[in-house]
Amino acid sequence: MFAPQKTDPLVTLSAGQPLAPLQPLILDWAAAAQVQLACLRLDQIDPLISGNKWFKLQPYLQQAMRENASGLVSLGGPHSNHLHALAAAGRRLGLATVGLVRGEPVDTPTMRDVQAMGMHLHWLGYAGYRERHQAGFWQPWLVRYPRFVCIDEGGQGLAGAQGCAALVEMVRAQLPALGWRRVDGWWLAVGTGTTLAGLRLAESPDVDVVGALAVPVRYNVGAMVEGLLDSASRACGSYRLVPAARRGFGQADEALLAFLQDAERQTGVVLEPVYTAKALMALRDAVLEGRLAPGSRWVFVHTGGLQGRRALLGVEEKERQLE
Ligand SMILES: *Cc1c(COP(=O)(O)O)cnc(C)c1O
Repeated sequence: MFAPQKTDPLVTLSAGQPLAPLQPLILDWAAAAQVQLACLRLDQIDPLISGNKWFKLQPYLQQAMRENASGLVSLGGPHSNHLHALAAAGRRLGLATVGLVRGEPVDTPTMRDVQAMGMHLHWLGYAGYRERHQAGFWQPWLVRYPRFVCIDEGGQGLAGAQGCAALVEMVRAQLPALGWRRVDGWWLAVGTGTTLAGLRLAESPDVDVVGALAVPVRYNVGAMVEGLLDSASRACGSYRLVPAARRGFGQADEALLAFLQDAERQTGVVLEPVYTAKALMALRDAVLEGRLAPGSRWVFVHTGGLQGRRALLGVEEKERQLE
């Protein structure tokens, strides 16, 4: 599955951004409210380096190549889409990767994949993981892994946000094919808010950007986003965050799973329960409450994350039982 790539990694990287298709998203509840939706399929840009993580990692990968770094080190949980994308990118570019993982060692499909792609893991426990925000956290890791590029948890930060600005151009280039003159708003799942900040920085101020929070409201993602926008010190439009975590980050409930199945059946687009299904469900609720104007045109960003679907929907368990 992870055979070495035939394409020259340098060529792949310098060839510019991949193109994610922008496709009409036909859902009965949106049609009934005369809200038009299109889906930016970041899940389809690459077989392994999926979703928004590709764009968030881009500046760090370029930095690593430019500085001739020995590798990249970052943090995440045992189902982390970010670590999965980092391991895949490192393998493709011939750069070593190290993952610092939350909690005690567990065997998940994600952790199996990243190790198969050559990522070296350290399990930090829960207390150890909580120290990630302390000044000096990276110091001992840089002693252990000299000349590595350190990436904060989930690729959060201004560099990653700037990597996501490319999404705005990508959508604009595809509007004519869709028959749309303009976009009224963007709707996307939010974890750290880095992707949302990137869109807000790149998009015109009169276009709405709404983030559906896959994490609890108490995480105060808004402060993170404000920090990112401030550090870019450039005037930009406003944004909104709506609660979408339901029972909590990574927690699925019956209503969510039923919604996910129905949306997949109607659209043929595969979703996962942590981010994309919750974001689309929050969009549906907004539509049902009449909060999106009839005739308005919205881009729903499929931020990827499908690698995590196996464990979270129990697909892997079923496969194993069948073996
Ligand atoms: C990481 C992730 C997000 C959240 O992105 P942020 O930039 O951290 O807000 C959303 N969707 C998916 C599928 C992700 O993997």
